[in-house]
Amino acid sequence: MGKKLLIDLLSLREMKNLPADAVMKTDKQNLSFKTIRELATFQFTCRRCENAPCVQACPAEALEKDENGLISRAVNICIRCKSCIVACPFGTMMDDLFAVKTSGLKFISLEDEKDMNEFAGLFPGDVVRVVDMEENPAEQIYQLNDTILIKELKWQ
Ligand code: SF4
Ligand code: SF4
Repeated sequence: MGKKLLIDLLSLREMKNLPADAVMKTDKQNLSFKTIRELATFQFTCRRCENAPCVQACPAEALEKDENGLISRAVNICIRCKSCIVACPFGTMMDDLFAVKTSGLKFISLEDEKDMNEFAGLFPGDVVRVVDMEENPAEQIYQLNDTILIKELKWQ
């Protein structure tokens, strides 16, 4: 069983200033990086609204909803206007969710366990941890991918 990064999105959302954000390559060509927060938010927090006000509010047509209701953002099209964040009736998205490097936030690309440890070490307490465990819905811990676990109140 390999090590995984466990991110407590519930606690992380309460933090005033994030010390860093973790990013992952999200396509086969390795051209597009997205933050774990963004991927986890759309995967677990988003209520997958039928009429998707976020998609409708986007002036750049950067948001798409797939057949399962999963929202994704085209990083190269998004102009970071935050209209979607304002339009979401459930406050799903954090205000700085689409921050870029110029925001002053430190970005860590998660490639291996060393990156995981570096990222986890920047957070206080148990907000981000490197763990030896699997998904555990009873404790609201869900698998985002092979190496990332997210603790969140998952929208069913
Ligand atoms: S921040 Fe603006 S451009 Fe980017 S996805 Fe949201 S509404 Fe669209
Ligand atoms: S409006 Fe909010 S909850 Fe609804 S689909 Fe968009 S991000 Fe998800």
